[in-house]
Amino acid sequence: MTDNTTRICVPFMDLRITDKRQRKNLLCAIKKVFDHGRFILGPEVQQLEKQVANFCNRRYAIGVNSGTDALYLALRSLDIGEGDEVITTSLSWVATANAIALTGAKPVFADIRDDLNIDPASVERLITKKTKAIMPVHFTGKICQMDQLLNIAREYDLLLVEDACQSFGASFKNRLAGTFGDIACFSMNPMKVFAGCGEAGMVVTNRKDLHKRLTALRYNGMIDRNTFSEVSLNGRIDTLQAAILLKRLDYVETVIEKRREIASWYNDLLKGIVGTPEEEQGQRHSYYLYTIRSSSRDALKDFLHDKGIETQIHHPYLLCDLPAFKTAKSNTANASLLIKQILCIPANEKLLREDIEYIAACIKEFCNA
Ligand SMILES: *Cc1c(COP(=O)(O)O)cnc(C)c1O
Repeated sequence: MTDNTTRICVPFMDLRITDKRQRKNLLCAIKKVFDHGRFILGPEVQQLEKQVANFCNRRYAIGVNSGTDALYLALRSLDIGEGDEVITTSLSWVATANAIALTGAKPVFADIRDDLNIDPASVERLITKKTKAIMPVHFTGKICQMDQLLNIAREYDLLLVEDACQSFGASFKNRLAGTFGDIACFSMNPMKVFAGCGEAGMVVTNRKDLHKRLTALRYNGMIDRNTFSEVSLNGRIDTLQAAILLKRLDYVETVIEKRREIASWYNDLLKGIVGTPEEEQGQRHSYYLYTIRSSSRDALKDFLHDKGIETQIHHPYLLCDLPAFKTAKSNTANASLLIKQILCIPANEKLLREDIEYIAACIKEFCNA
């Protein structure tokens, strides 16, 4: 019996900062900002931009106040707008599609592969004279088929914008998320693997012109105090978030390694019982989400709930099924099947081996029944 009063013993996420040393470091970083008082575009913002650019092997990084803003401003910096089409995936967080639509361009939704990432063959089928860009999402922290997407972009002369909001630190054949496209966007909201203590985002690029344009776009189109080049709003990152993220950057690799370890435990325990994420040669999945597949997904979710295990569905709908995008062009045969089967189980870095064994045992119990 499913009821909402079951005590959750394994939460999907636990965002509290419990590590004593990390907590001390973060409080110390916050105090420094209190001391200098430069709360807007203070020195930590530039330091973070420099370090993220270095981390990602890009020349420029520009801090903004969310991943959503990063996507919207990145598209604007590429002159994407009215009359253009941008092909993206049908399975993502709604911000991906909203960012495209808010520029005035039309989102077009491609099908996905079994790994939940955009299917390059579907992208190619959706290209028209109006197509200006492809915006793949490295969904769940796994890099898309970038070789193929880059070939398509080259052949049809399209821009490539990476929605890397879920994939900071993930890589394919040593090439990091954010280094494939003309421009790439990260989110550092508290749920992400590289997380702030509030809203934050980052755009990275190698192009000097885009960096310059983004600097204006993130603050009212302002070039200098008296020069305003274009219409925009305020999308700057806070100094406080930058200070926190600078500290947290030190832990990113450890967090990813821990998540990868948890994923490998799950893979061993669950192989052959439910569908588990495949990791091909060269993939370094960062496991923002660990997604299993089951043809009895809803019953499994209820069963796990009754066992005190919190799960989530990312996502139970396709972007093209949302009211705002119902009339959009799309190609989603596989995606429509997959959204009925996918289930994200707890995989955050705070979990212990015994939690993973308990969850796997419950899934086995369900599947054997
Ligand atoms: C989180 C996320 C965003 C938006 O990031 P926010 O910082 O929450 O605005 C965009 N796209 C994808 C794929 C995301 O996961």
